[in-house]
Amino acid sequence: MNPIHVVGGGLAGSEAAWQIAQAGVPVVLHEMRPERMTEAHRTRGLAELVCSNSFRSDDANANAVGLLHQEMRRLGSLIMACGDRHQVPAGGALAVDRDGFSDAVTAALEAHPLVTIDRAEVAGLPPDTWDSVVVATGPLTSPALAEAILALTGETSLAFFDAIAPIVHRDSIDMGKAWFQSRYDKAGPGGTGADYINCAMNRDEYEAFIDALLAGEKTEFKEWENTPYFDGCLPIEVMAERGRETLRHGPMKPVGLTNPHTPERPYAVVQLRQDNALGTLFNMVGFQTKLKYGEQSRIFRMIPGLEGAEFARLGGLHRNTYLNSPRLLDPTLRMKAQPRLRFAGQITGCEGYVESAAVGLMAGRFAAAERLGVPLRPLPHTTAMGALINHITGGHIETIDEGPRSFQPMNVNFGLFPPLERAPKSPDGKRLRGAGKTRAKKQALTDRARADLAAWLGRDVVSVAAE
Ligand SMILES: Cc1cc2nc3c(=O)[nH]c(=O)nc-3n(C[C@H](O)[C@H](O)[C@H](O)COP(=O)(O)OP(=O)(O)OC[C@H]3O[C@@H](n4cnc5c(N)ncnc54)[C@H](O)[C@@H]3O)c2cc1C
Repeated sequence: MNPIHVVGGGLAGSEAAWQIAQAGVPVVLHEMRPERMTEAHRTRGLAELVCSNSFRSDDANANAVGLLHQEMRRLGSLIMACGDRHQVPAGGALAVDRDGFSDAVTAALEAHPLVTIDRAEVAGLPPDTWDSVVVATGPLTSPALAEAILALTGETSLAFFDAIAPIVHRDSIDMGKAWFQSRYDKAGPGGTGADYINCAMNRDEYEAFIDALLAGEKTEFKEWENTPYFDGCLPIEVMAERGRETLRHGPMKPVGLTNPHTPERPYAVVQLRQDNALGTLFNMVGFQTKLKYGEQSRIFRMIPGLEGAEFARLGGLHRNTYLNSPRLLDPTLRMKAQPRLRFAGQITGCEGYVESAAVGLMAGRFAAAERLGVPLRPLPHTTAMGALINHITGGHIETIDEGPRSFQPMNVNFGLFPPLERAPKSPDGKRLRGAGKTRAKKQALTDRARADLAAWLGRDVVSVAAE
């Protein structure tokens, strides 16, 4: 049988190679380190963790990444098995001994009879003779390969100074203070005239907010992060440093908006724009920031209507290489323009170690199923993995004003899941409120995911073969 080629032995590529080999298909894993290093990797080990050593929460009932851990374990994930074996104490989180973890992943792949490891850079498009390839070269993809992919996609950019704005769960916004309206009620193509959620500030609230932004603790740039950013995506605290009124004339301008809750004219307005097709997530327009995470939560909750905001993702700035996946990839992660190429990991626009490995897991299974000639069955969108892959390959909606690059990297979170058909009730049938309601909703979402994954596993030929 012709081997499948996996390019990049990081979190996604290592998992993809493992899944392919476990399905009985030979695989060649191409990793350029140590011959050529990236700006962040320090070792020759596969699945090196470049920064923190945490896989985040391991709670499969109350946290989307915990649920993702559980699903990956069920699907025979190498990354999760090695993570579990090299766990270090970290409360409710799964944190790992990074060297022990990476050594274990490397040893498992080196020992697998169907895996060949080629320590060389793939410095351009993979040769035509490779008829099935998983590209998993991550946020720091080598320039030669990045340029070749760019030429293939017809996009204008692939590597970005990733200026990301926070994303808020819609149901945590206080609509007693906020309201839906588009500026000047413009409907535009595909809009209704009431597409944005608006949060108004009076003068005192605005001044206090600017003081907080100026005083807030910022993260420092790492030396290698020298990609320029453009004026169009300046962090809000940098704008505030340029003048106390700059934000009021930029992303927080109050014009064309009328607060229905009060006759008072807004002094400044924060707008949030729908971020996913489900309408469960809204991003803070123009609020890219390099404030520290704790500071972001504290300062953004000063905004009227966002006092109880739950963030699906906080803002940040770093270099990143990722595809405009919703446009370029099909539901099984193949590039539409060249289906022999599949993509996995952070280059597809997911964010995080676990998410990258999860997308690698599915890319590996999709590639193996295709090679074996068995049906490719996408995961239900109600599972954590299905929700994540759906977001990457189609769930995200492009916004008119930001265009295709409104697609931004994303951690797994409950906002990506289709809403429950019925709100959970208390055992005696009463409506739940507050923290009890949130807990019950998460429990119901995760129970539904487990049931749907079990049903999918029962039918999926590759999964059965692999277990
Ligand atoms: C500086 C930085 C810090 C981060 N910190 C965190 C964090 O703390 N927590 C978190 O969850 N996520 C973090 N991330 C985000 C992300 O989750 C990780 O980058 C994650 O490792 C992505 O997994 P991946 O498999 O897609 O890429 P990687 O793990 O980076 O793997 C890609 C592999 O491809 C290889 N490669 C690249 N180009 C080629 C080529 N042409 N030929 C052959 N091999 C190639 C690389 O050497 C690398 O081994 C961070 C990202 C960066 C850049």
